[in-house]
Amino acid sequence: MDLGEKIAILASAAKYDASCASSGGTPQAKGGGRRGFGVNLPAGICHSWTGDGRCVSLLKVLYSNVCRYDCAYCVNRVSSDTPRASFTMDELVSLTREFYRRNYIEGLFLSSGIFADPDIVMEKLIATARKLRTEEGYAGYIHLKIIPGTGEKLIREAGRWADRLSANIELPTDKSLQTLAPQKSGKVILGAMKEAAEARAEYEEDRRHIRSTPDFAPAGQSTQLIVGASEEDDRQIVTLSGALYRKFGLRRVYYSAFIPVGGAGRGGIPDPRLPDIPGPPLVREHRLYQADWLLRFYHFSAAEILEDSPYLDMHLDPKTAWALKHPDRFPVEISRADYEELLRVPGIGAKSSRRIIETRRSRSLTFDGLRRLGVILKRARYFITVAGAALDCLDNPKRVRRVLADSDGAGLQLPLFEF
Ligand code: SF4
Repeated sequence: MDLGEKIAILASAAKYDASCASSGGTPQAKGGGRRGFGVNLPAGICHSWTGDGRCVSLLKVLYSNVCRYDCAYCVNRVSSDTPRASFTMDELVSLTREFYRRNYIEGLFLSSGIFADPDIVMEKLIATARKLRTEEGYAGYIHLKIIPGTGEKLIREAGRWADRLSANIELPTDKSLQTLAPQKSGKVILGAMKEAAEARAEYEEDRRHIRSTPDFAPAGQSTQLIVGASEEDDRQIVTLSGALYRKFGLRRVYYSAFIPVGGAGRGGIPDPRLPDIPGPPLVREHRLYQADWLLRFYHFSAAEILEDSPYLDMHLDPKTAWALKHPDRFPVEISRADYEELLRVPGIGAKSSRRIIETRRSRSLTFDGLRRLGVILKRARYFITVAGAALDCLDNPKRVRRVLADSDGAGLQLPLFEF
């Protein structure tokens, strides 16, 4: 098989992994003391996307799509009759180097099917990253997948060469893992996250005393949760995400709407373990990203976001849904409200909250002024007063819900901006 065919198979095989964004990286040549070619990306830059909206700014490939495991939702599972291929380490190193030099990519995302003992597979990924760093002088972004079942020593080794590590939790409960990914265990996956988090903390502590301490996965950890392949509700998912952020300091949880992959089972017969759905639940995925935003930047707890329903409102963003259930918390007076109160107002984000507090130290605010600070008045108008004046009110939450649900439209853009 020639290299072009391998790339086609192994890039396609990797596309269902959503945990690939390069946000959160720091320039290695500055921060980690690594020298050589390759400039890392500022947070959030992604240059291209797959048709279903996933980031492919990295060379995102599997080392091999040969896999012993039989995860029902995965096109690479052992029972799938998909074409198989594997790179050699030298092929991957040379591909990364050449693609980077030609400006095709800004980094490498490397995962693999479990074609052998997990430690053997992980060692291949690590060896590729290590060779890029030590022999090729590559200082660009590297995201390595932690293969489920990898030993602690190799997790610690992986973090030496990667900017980001990710162990995919995949499904929210052990029960679902047992049904859909019977060779995987939540305990093992969480153990890998814990090991990576502890190693990172140790390196950071060492760096406080010895400045030359090398980096350990400076862009942190991420994980992926598949949404809609199993029966868990949004409350279980958001609660789990909240715990992962708290316990392991994860940078991101990526939600991946379950894609019913082609006829899935042996001989094209759908796998009976999977739900029969017409397409990926993209609106649900979108709402989960918004809820995740509330967890990470707006100081909401999972219990607050889903206090009286196990599912997020599909017609309203979760912050507006929360506000409409708490009319007693509004209106918020903009000239006096503290940061936490401002954060709770639909249409006022973290950045505009900070700008409001900063600006009102030197001058009075007006509705026009708020607009210039980035406040989305179309939303915020029902929830605020400015020096006692109001544009609208919350006297009839059902009316407001109708207006905001229409204007939100359950769009499918990721919440890159404040809401
Ligand atoms: S371990 Fe499961 S999810 Fe990973 S490649 Fe194998 S079958 Fe797919």
